[in-house]
Amino acid sequence: MITVTLAKGDGIGPEIMDATLSVLNAAGADINFEEIEVGEKMYLNGHSTGISDKAWEKIRTNKILFKAPITTPQGGGYKSLNVTMRKTLGLYSNIRPCTSMHPFVQTKHPLMDVVIIRENEEDLYAGIEHQQTDEVVQCLKLISRPGCEKIITYAFEYAKRYGRKKVTCFTKDNIMKQTDGLFHQVFDEVAGRYPEIEKEHWIVDIGAALLADSPESFDVIVMPNLYGDVMSDIAAQIAGSVGLGGSANIGQECAMFEAIHGSAPNIAGKNIANPSGLINASVMMLNHIGQNIVAENIQNAWLRTIEDGVHTADVYDLVMSTKKVGTKEFAEAVIANLGKAPKQLPTVSYDNSTPLILPKYQRKPARDKKVVGVDLFVDWQGENPNELASKLQKLDNDELELVLITNRGVKVWPQGFKETFCTDHWRCRYAVKDGKELQKGKIIEVLKSALDHNVDAIKTENLYTFDGKRGYSLGQGQ
Ligand code: NAD
Repeated sequence: MITVTLAKGDGIGPEIMDATLSVLNAAGADINFEEIEVGEKMYLNGHSTGISDKAWEKIRTNKILFKAPITTPQGGGYKSLNVTMRKTLGLYSNIRPCTSMHPFVQTKHPLMDVVIIRENEEDLYAGIEHQQTDEVVQCLKLISRPGCEKIITYAFEYAKRYGRKKVTCFTKDNIMKQTDGLFHQVFDEVAGRYPEIEKEHWIVDIGAALLADSPESFDVIVMPNLYGDVMSDIAAQIAGSVGLGGSANIGQECAMFEAIHGSAPNIAGKNIANPSGLINASVMMLNHIGQNIVAENIQNAWLRTIEDGVHTADVYDLVMSTKKVGTKEFAEAVIANLGKAPKQLPTVSYDNSTPLILPKYQRKPARDKKVVGVDLFVDWQGENPNELASKLQKLDNDELELVLITNRGVKVWPQGFKETFCTDHWRCRYAVKDGKELQKGKIIEVLKSALDHNVDAIKTENLYTFDGKRGYSLGQGQ
């Protein structure tokens, strides 16, 4: 018997979890659940992270967590426990299958069968944000090569394991050439190792439009964190309902299984929530821990229940539904169908008993890194960039000279346009003269000189080349 940590969550969490546990129990899942308290109560009891040290200990010992949705209290600066858990436990891969149950659940996309694989640890979810000037705040978007390699390899291995034909990548690398550019580049590299699987890439805006319009043309889609978050909710909703989707968060050592939806406080305590998302998550968990027969039994019973037209209010439809039921009654209907197969929807059969876990990431040899300049960010309330440039040219030294000023990324000096709207946040680029390698001490000289000349420097960002290749973006219009 395996021990799994269990969290019943907030809002509709306890009701859908009890319903799911009744199904697991009736199907004979061989699991010992160890319950922990996380979420709203813990936040409000003074645990700023929403979880106690003791609960962390249990999660880390048992390695598998089965979790109902959690409410993050609004205001008060509480960080999302879901994001913290995924990142702290290294659960880099978020898998969300979105399959149409046509004609039994209303959808405009009867042939839809998409799996969204979302990077789960980085991107704008690093949560590194700062107010830098009176007018400007920033959020740091971090994309790493290990992060890209892990999630993209996972997507291709997933496609291989489950007989999927195509992996699509969504990025915005026409704009974010360094961050999304790296994701796309690694996608192309990894795809080259899987010639039997078709690969394609879409810029995320048109990709999202195509996904919403003709999801049947997609198979597996891999994305950085933010796009994956948005797109997987859209995909789940157009497949039928966000209430149906389960999700797996897989890492090197630990895994967490949950519904894709939130704690739905608007319908909590009414016995009307759909427990299907959590039931489907439990099927993913059973497969992960090698209890495939039980997983198969529950999934087929669930499909049969959906086919029978026994539906909760969120998917109830006058034409296809036969009975509107509550959370508990839906679970009872699934239990009554254990051992039965769907008649029209495809019956599932899970014969892979090993979880899909990739070998540990091996760090690559470091490339030749040279510092060739510095971006000095300045808080300045003036309006004329030429005036700022004259002030900043005084900070030049024997190795560094001012070459560019941008405002929110747009070049305003030299030869800016007077039409460009400027804030109080200026990026001022100092490049090494004669293309030599820069002594880092020269950057400190610029900073010191800024202090001497009463320039409000808010941060610096070094400019590097890696094996001679530029590791920073140019200014727009440069
Ligand atoms: P939500 O997913 O909770 O609800 C969105 C809408 O879908 C609501 O109308 C809700 O009634 C409906 N809905 C959701 N699940 C349903 C179900 N199983 N059956 C029937 N209808 C369902 O999203 P939200 O309102 O944006 O967020 C509410 C809270 O949940 C917030 O505190 C948020 O932080 C949290 N949240 C938690 C998780 C998680 O724990 N993984 C994920 C997302 C949001």
